[in-house]
Amino acid sequence: MNISHIEHLGIAVKSLEQAIPYYEQILGFKCYAVEEVADQKVKTAFFKAGQTKIELLEPTSPESTIAKFIEKRGEGIHHIAFTVDDVQKSLDEAAEKGIQLIDKAPRKGAEGLEIAFLHPKSTIGVLTELCQQPKNKE
Ligand code: ZN
Repeated sequence: MNISHIEHLGIAVKSLEQAIPYYEQILGFKCYAVEEVADQKVKTAFFKAGQTKIELLEPTSPESTIAKFIEKRGEGIHHIAFTVDDVQKSLDEAAEKGIQLIDKAPRKGAEGLEIAFLHPKSTIGVLTELCQQPKNKE
């Protein structure tokens, strides 16, 4: 697969309201977007660290995978997201090489990105997200 850079790091937090001040006041970032992704039952807050973003994830429901993650492992780094030129192609390639997929096809993530996850069982413990900028509809 063709990875250009780390798109973002996903960090699970119990509360955006409590987490955002740390990122703004101590680290000096500016939160530039807060967005709810109903599909994933999370509320996200974004910061830019150069080309890479920090994505804070707060669960909006106890059924959210983020809620389950926090319950099991506590707050902290949840996933790493790489930008690829073609998510579907990358998924197919990974599957061919025996990697277990969470998503067999890309779906809509925050910021309109096309996203898909590889299973941490196949990625040596790191939940891995592949992202692609949305294609312009003409
Ligand atoms: Zn993500």
